[in-house]
Amino acid sequence: MNEGSEESTDPGEQAAKPRKRTQGVVSIDTERCKGCCYCVEFCPMHVLIMSSKFNAKGHHYPEVDPDGKCTACDLCGMFCPDFAIHAQRVSKPDSTKE
Ligand code: SF4
Ligand code: SF4
Repeated sequence: MNEGSEESTDPGEQAAKPRKRTQGVVSIDTERCKGCCYCVEFCPMHVLIMSSKFNAKGHHYPEVDPDGKCTACDLCGMFCPDFAIHAQRVSKPDSTKE
């Protein structure tokens, strides 16, 4: 009945496929930021922290926690009222050492 199916059920073959992990790279335009913290509060991965530094308008702005794992969900970009932050998706081999 299933002779036409070409999908492999061999676990060895499936394991041999290179796996990719989606990661996000966050871009922040610090001078557009008004320090509302929405991006920090809504990031599900807790990737963003508010800087102790100020921009030219006198607002604290977000920074990326170097240990954070951004998934490129772009919730930060959707919630930012000033279009000051967004994330881009990049794919990296899962074997990459952290
Ligand atoms: S893209 Fe998603 S996970 Fe990455 S910093 Fe923004 S809200 Fe957080
Ligand atoms: S949501 Fe936008 S304006 Fe608010 S702190 Fe984040 S980057 Fe700044």
